[in-house]
Amino acid sequence: MKPVIAIYPGSFDPLTNGHLDLIERGAKIFDELIVAILRNPEKEPLFSLEERLEMIRAMTRGHENVRVDSFDGLMVDYALNVGATAVLRGIRAISDYEYELQMALMNRKLEPRLETVFMMPAETYSYLSSRLVREVATLGGSVRGLVPELVEKKLRAKLGPAMARHKEATRE
Ligand code: ADP
Repeated sequence: MKPVIAIYPGSFDPLTNGHLDLIERGAKIFDELIVAILRNPEKEPLFSLEERLEMIRAMTRGHENVRVDSFDGLMVDYALNVGATAVLRGIRAISDYEYELQMALMNRKLEPRLETVFMMPAETYSYLSSRLVREVATLGGSVRGLVPELVEKKLRAKLGPAMARHKEATRE
C-alpha cells in the first residue's frame, strides 16, 4: 500500500505546545507528516522563516516520520507536489470551525483528491494560539508551559527590549 503523506500547514509564529500536540497525534496516524510553514508576504512575522524552520526542526527531531518545510502560493499545489493526500488542521473550539470549514471546502473544490483531517489537541491547549503567545510575551507575561522551552528562550531574546519598554511605560 502507498504510504500516506500528510501536510500540516500553518504560520507557526511561534510554534506552541498546541501545535506540538497536533504534530504528535498526526505522526501516529500518517506514514509521513510534513509541517509546512506558509510564506506569507502580506504578514510581517515575529520570527523569520529561518527561525521558525529551525525551532520546529529542533522540536520534532525525535520523530522519524516528521519533516519541516515551507511553501508559498496555493496550499493544494504544494500538497500535490510533495505527494500528500491529506491536510492536517487543528480545531480548538467552535470558533475555529467556521473558518476551517470554509477553507477545507474551498481546498476540496480546488483539489478533490486532497482530504482535510481535523484533530483536536489536549484540552489544556484549547485556548492557546500563537497570536496570544505573542501578545502575552510582548507585554512581559509568562508563557511557560504554553510553548517549548526553546521557543520561550527565543521569545525572551527577541522581545526582551520590547518587554522592558512596556514595563518602563506602564510605570509612569
Ligand atoms: P494559521 O495562520 O494557518 O491558522 P497557525 O500556526 O495559527 O496558522 O495554525 C496552524 C494550524 O494549527 C491550524 O489548523 C490551527 O487551527 C492549529 N492550531 C493552532 N493552535 C493550536 C492549538 N493550540 N491546538 C491545536 N491546534 C492548533
